Amino acid sequence: MRVLVVEDEPKVAAAVKRGLEGEGLAVDVAGDGVDGLWMATEHEYDAIVLDIMLPGKNGFDVCAALREAGNWTPVLMLTAKDGDLDEAEALDTGADDYLTKPFSFVVLVAHVRALLRRANRSAPAPIEAGDLRVDPARHRCWRGDAEITLTAREFAVLEFLIRRAGEVIPKLRLLEGVWDYEFDGDPNIVEVYIRHLRRKIDEPFGRKAIETVRGAGYRLAADGG
Ligand code: CA
Repeated sequence: MRVLVVEDEPKVAAAVKRGLEGEGLAVDVAGDGVDGLWMATEHEYDAIVLDIMLPGKNGFDVCAALREAGNWTPVLMLTAKDGDLDEAEALDTGADDYLTKPFSFVVLVAHVRALLRRANRSAPAPIEAGDLRVDPARHRCWRGDAEITLTAREFAVLEFLIRRAGEVIPKLRLLEGVWDYEFDGDPNIVEVYIRHLRRKIDEPFGRKAIETVRGAGYRLAADGG
């Protein structure tokens, strides 16, 4: 799942990004309101963490513009205790939740998780491919009756594939969907995670759910392999 953080203080933005990435989320950062609004419009996010006091366009305006355009991505607004704009106003402009600065990252992560759960309420059911099953709301995975323990990132890769079971997913699309789109590390990281996943969801069960399609990408068998 992908989250947009709109925050002009680089230190706060970097810390929020790290904290959310630690939860297995892909995070993009925008440093001002204009960029934030553009990114939220151009890309699809599961949630937006939006600071109020921003250069260019403040958080209230960004949120109001999104809602006006019919974009209902859940928004968590960051308010300052000494700011002249308050929480009620945040909710008035269409934010789903707010958090007063300074906040602890544990609390931030809990609020973002709650937003993501709420956003998923319309489709809370586990996703299945044959006897392979993942529950995105609770971050759990099973092969038949056997529960499989996955790291946050392994889970994110599997969730991305199983939501598109039967489709060939190019490596770069997987990278963009699970890591953030400014990821500038080695794209072979995808292969590493595919290998980890096979070791957990396929090999112990003598199955082959994740297929490598030479030169094209990966495909998770719709029947679970
Ligand atoms: Ca700010």
